[in-house]
Amino acid sequence: MTFSIHHLIRDNIRQLHPYSSARDEFTGNASVFLDANENPFNAPLNRYPDPRQLRLKERLSAIKQLPAGNIFLGNGSDEPIDLLYRAFCEPRLDNVVAIAPTYGMYKVAADINAVDYREVLLDGEYGLDPESLLKATDEHTKLIFLCSPNNPTGNALSGVALEKILTEFPGIVVVDEAYIDFCPETTLVPRLSEFPNLVILQTLSKAWGVAAIRLGMAFASPEIIGVLSKIKYPYNINQLTQQHALEILQSTQKKDEWVQELLQERKKLESALTTLPHVLQVYPSDANFILVRTRGAKNIYQYLTNQGIIVRDRSKIVLCGECLRITVGTAEENQKLLAEWRRMA
Ligand SMILES: *Cc1c(COP(=O)(O)O)cnc(C)c1O
Repeated sequence: MTFSIHHLIRDNIRQLHPYSSARDEFTGNASVFLDANENPFNAPLNRYPDPRQLRLKERLSAIKQLPAGNIFLGNGSDEPIDLLYRAFCEPRLDNVVAIAPTYGMYKVAADINAVDYREVLLDGEYGLDPESLLKATDEHTKLIFLCSPNNPTGNALSGVALEKILTEFPGIVVVDEAYIDFCPETTLVPRLSEFPNLVILQTLSKAWGVAAIRLGMAFASPEIIGVLSKIKYPYNINQLTQQHALEILQSTQKKDEWVQELLQERKKLESALTTLPHVLQVYPSDANFILVRTRGAKNIYQYLTNQGIIVRDRSKIVLCGECLRITVGTAEENQKLLAEWRRMA
């Protein structure tokens, strides 16, 4: 059986005639542009940006070793997350299944789109049991959300478990790889063509160091990319972002150096944290942050905040009681955190 997403798409989206912009209808070379009601002055920002982001996709295609037709670009990862709901989930009828604890945006986007969000708890070591996840799905489950390495727990999920879900689930499986540059060996990108129901999310917000420009990526079959492209805002990636992304993607060297340094710092931070007062457990991390179980997370959070050091209090999240999530900073920032924590009574 060949997998097709055709029957998964909402009827109104399948029938949709997308908006056709001036820049869609003409893409060749010309010298006089009188087609888009732009102001002829103030070049270059007077022109609408490329709605298909072709140069940027070519660059990413070379870096990710993936055809440009497998790439969708969004205003942060939040955009493809929202578009997946809008493309595949009928409000008040369909549902999605996700692991818990995980990134909060999947549920927010479900609530915005009036889609039932079902959570399946990870195990005591934040591992994924594919059977219980699959058991939570039914004929109205259109999407499964997985995150690896997972936020806020920090661990990469089992490749065997992911593969089982991809093979057995008849809907779409989203694997969020926002932190993949910190454990590149676990990426599913090279296996994309094996799984026509796989959507991989990545971002320039973490390892690439440009959270401010808002550039998220989705990698999937050309069929899925086509659906997302059809329903996005025509000019969803502004010209300043496209320009800056092209510049930062010229070379992977700086990103690779940052990743190496942050991995070294993470190692130092992990071992130092285990020696601190009120620390019960330092969870292993495959990302650029560390989850720490403490005695009295709220107090520690408040104390650190008073010293001008902000960490993330995750203690209200399921399976994360008394846990703080600490982003790996510069050597100096990490030293400061550790010094203040040691001074705590
Ligand atoms: C930080 C993060 C993102 C990135 O979101 P952007 O909108 O691209 O900045 C995506 N997924 C997870 C799990 C994250 O932690």
